[in-house]
Amino acid sequence: MRKNRILIIEDEEKIARFVELELGYEGYEVEKALDGRDGLALVKARPFDLILLDIMLPGLNGIEVLRRIRQFSTIPVILLTARDAVVDKVTGLDGGADDYITKPFAIEELLARIRVCLRAGNSRLESQTNAHVLTTGSLRLDPEKRACWMGSESLDLTKKEFDMLQCLLENKNIVMKRETLLDKIWGYDFAGETNAVDVYIRYLRAKIEEPYHQKIIHTVRGVGYVIRDE
Ligand code: CA
Repeated sequence: MRKNRILIIEDEEKIARFVELELGYEGYEVEKALDGRDGLALVKARPFDLILLDIMLPGLNGIEVLRRIRQFSTIPVILLTARDAVVDKVTGLDGGADDYITKPFAIEELLARIRVCLRAGNSRLESQTNAHVLTTGSLRLDPEKRACWMGSESLDLTKKEFDMLQCLLENKNIVMKRETLLDKIWGYDFAGETNAVDVYIRYLRAKIEEPYHQKIIHTVRGVGYVIRDE
């Protein structure tokens, strides 16, 4: 499994070094930057999973670094704030930080917050990447990956079967005429041979319905086919 990569932007070298060592023991891959500009440059240059960002930094302060990061990334950010700097915390959270921790902190607390933020970051990423996945019941179809699953089982569809299923899923609850399906999938007028559609629907059903004893594609007599939201 790939290690989570964490960037710490902190000008106090002792703290930066300590955190780097502790996170290293925990199996994280850590890089550190000692000022805001270097930190920002690293965020732009390399993929990280989380950023620990000190607020009081020379040059570009943490709040400004955060503001600039948020212009191009939703990466989880935990702010490191000085004790009782209430204003910093509020400004930081308003500015898009995911959490903050007050210095001096116990390493266990930092680790716990990191775990929470990484989990939240992962599910955010997942929901973003899943946004284009088409579903009905436990059937999922990912047009970008050209992949299709029933539950966790991956289905092996031919190009035409896949295109047909995608077209029906994209037009859920709309009855697709045989002619329309022909036109969309074969890309030209196939007049007189609309039974090609019936043939492929049969192939599809043999793969997505019969093995699972379920009905997904409904026939509308004399018209065509539809996948309905159950
Ligand atoms: Ca500092």
